[in-house]
Amino acid sequence: MLAAKLFGPGDVRVVECDVPAITSDEMLLRVEAAAICGTDLRMVANGWKGVDERHPLTLGHEVSGTIVQVGQNVQGYAPGMRVAVAPNMGCGICDACVRGDTHLCTQYQAFGINRDGGFAEYLCVPGAAIAQGNVMVLGTETPFATAALFEPMSCVLNGQQRAGVRLNDTVLVIGAGPIGVMHALLAQASGAARVLISDLSAARRQQCLALVPGAAALPGNNLLEEVMQETKGRGVDVCITACPSAAAQAQAPSLMAMNGRILYFGGLPTGRDEVCLATNFIHYRQLSICGSTRANVAQFRAVAKMEAAGNLKLGALVSKCFALADFSTALAYASSAAGLKTVIVPPIS
Ligand SMILES: [Zn+2]
Ligand SMILES: [Zn+2]
Repeated sequence: MLAAKLFGPGDVRVVECDVPAITSDEMLLRVEAAAICGTDLRMVANGWKGVDERHPLTLGHEVSGTIVQVGQNVQGYAPGMRVAVAPNMGCGICDACVRGDTHLCTQYQAFGINRDGGFAEYLCVPGAAIAQGNVMVLGTETPFATAALFEPMSCVLNGQQRAGVRLNDTVLVIGAGPIGVMHALLAQASGAARVLISDLSAARRQQCLALVPGAAALPGNNLLEEVMQETKGRGVDVCITACPSAAAQAQAPSLMAMNGRILYFGGLPTGRDEVCLATNFIHYRQLSICGSTRANVAQFRAVAKMEAAGNLKLGALVSKCFALADFSTALAYASSAAGLKTVIVPPIS
């Protein structure tokens, strides 16, 4: 089969390799769609720990597919089922795992991060992932490319559950890339009265407004002034930084209404993550600041149900699909930030 493997910084190649052999506790998927994420772009650009010429890694953690084989001990799944797979699996016995937060397990494993992922024709799903409920059966109406976006959307849901987006909130999202657009969509679906999204790029603002009707797009040249004008001097209830910007993180407290909640969703480049905060805003406006990373399986399933119920229009975020053989072209397209989500569709062999 073909697989897009990372061999080192800037060195990703589509290579021929064996279809994984499964044990009695595992299942084999034919990958139908796998979306490129900012994490993939960073892994390719900077390389990844433990990955070198002799230890390549198949990337891809946003995956959907068709079950083609199940081990004899696997219950509840059968060949032919269309599924989406949550990428993170935990040890199963630590406190985080027992709480359901397998994504916070210190021993966690994930497809495309520390075990082979979905930019391949086939994917082996280990017993731990099956036992933890990571394999979610899709209805026939859900396209595979849409299902591949459940993973990033579940991370967005995790963040908004942490920040507590409530009915009638005014929510500001800083950054109108794919994650920012997902935050705007989810905030609307969660009952936010107003969704503001800021991005310096006019093209991104326009693209976002087409996908999130009713949102207001701000150029962000003077974000404080723009936000105060939009909110009549009140500030926003929730501010989400969906961009790797220290300046956005520093500015967030000044944009908030009383009792506001700030979510630092986008990480900052390593070594450049020290931010100076005006803490009197936090004190006198009684603000909460939280972060989030990854998502648990319950959040993954919640997103699948919202999509199936028609409450999220995730499919519209798919800008372009590429064959696995054209992975380098797909990466270049995703890096150009021209569209939103780039999806790899392996050949059906
Ligand atoms: Zn991702
Ligand atoms: Zn654990």
